[in-house]
Amino acid sequence: MKAGAVTPGQKDSARLAEMDVPVISDGQALVRLLEVGIDGTDMEISRGEYGEAPLDQNFLVLGHEAVGQIENPGTTNLSESDLVVPLVRRPDECIACRSAQPDMCIDGNYRECGIKGAHGFLREYLAEDSDFLVQVPQDLRHIAVEPTSIATKGIEQAMEFHNRSANPIKVALVLGAGPLGLLATALLQLQNFTTYTLDIVPKSSIKAQLVQSLGANYIDGRESPVKTLPEQIGNLDLIMEATGNSTVAFQAMSVLGVNGVLCLMGVSTGQKPLEVNAACLNMQMVLGNKMVFGTVSSNRGHFERSIQSLASIEQKWPGWLSRLITRRLRLNEFTDALQPTPDNIKTEIELI
Ligand code: BGC
Ligand code: ZN
Repeated sequence: MKAGAVTPGQKDSARLAEMDVPVISDGQALVRLLEVGIDGTDMEISRGEYGEAPLDQNFLVLGHEAVGQIENPGTTNLSESDLVVPLVRRPDECIACRSAQPDMCIDGNYRECGIKGAHGFLREYLAEDSDFLVQVPQDLRHIAVEPTSIATKGIEQAMEFHNRSANPIKVALVLGAGPLGLLATALLQLQNFTTYTLDIVPKSSIKAQLVQSLGANYIDGRESPVKTLPEQIGNLDLIMEATGNSTVAFQAMSVLGVNGVLCLMGVSTGQKPLEVNAACLNMQMVLGNKMVFGTVSSNRGHFERSIQSLASIEQKWPGWLSRLITRRLRLNEFTDALQPTPDNIKTEIELI
């Protein structure tokens, strides 16, 4: 079978690879992969900045956002034709991993399919333990479950932190209108917050239109830079950072409102020194009871709750989710998907 692979650490090494169709063992199902989404992490891996091959191998199959169909359920409880989404992170032996929270892994020996130490899903077939497969309704076939699970975890944790204080969240700000920022916007709108989503594209762009069609407010950061936002929209109770730009993350810290919570969701690679007024930032954080936290990955519960939220989003704003997928390519064109293109939101590789 064909797979889309890279040599981790080596820039522009993406290529098609040939692999054997896997054979299922007890407790595993054979999954025919249908669609795989490409995100910023795949691009970082393709630039050689991130990613790790499985032990004793010199290549890594990409792809961690996938949906597939059960071709052979083996001895699992799944049935032929069921749609499934595979989980990304695989546990090590630490206490968090043993407690079904590999997303909170302590030892760091977890693996992530398509990212760190385990092959991903950009291939025709996958033999997988049913513990790592989450069933999804047939009508969510073209919907991005994995990135939604990341936003779901971030927002759930932010809500828990916010519950420290009595003031309700009035204003939520999302930084970045890429897939993660857009999905976070939809989840926040589902919870009826007044949501502002900032990016640096014109109001006429598809990203801005997607924000507005949820009833959220789009801000063009070139006209209204982050530092001007408190004056324009009031106390920033909740900020979801989804640009992965470390400078923006620090700007977000300095505008966070009193009792506010800032959730950092973007992984940034490389080096980017930045001069900050540390005393001022520290004082504002302390005197304003502010909270900044990072979040990575997601566990089965987040996937399951995302699937419910996605069904509600689809019901409330029919067709909105499928508008996030702005480019569809075949497996033999997957290297094109690793080049950023303006105005593209999400590229999907169709495997069938
Ligand atoms: C993936 C996560 C992963 C993170 C860090 C993201 O793109 O969606 O599942 O934990 O990268 O590797
Ligand atoms: Zn662990």
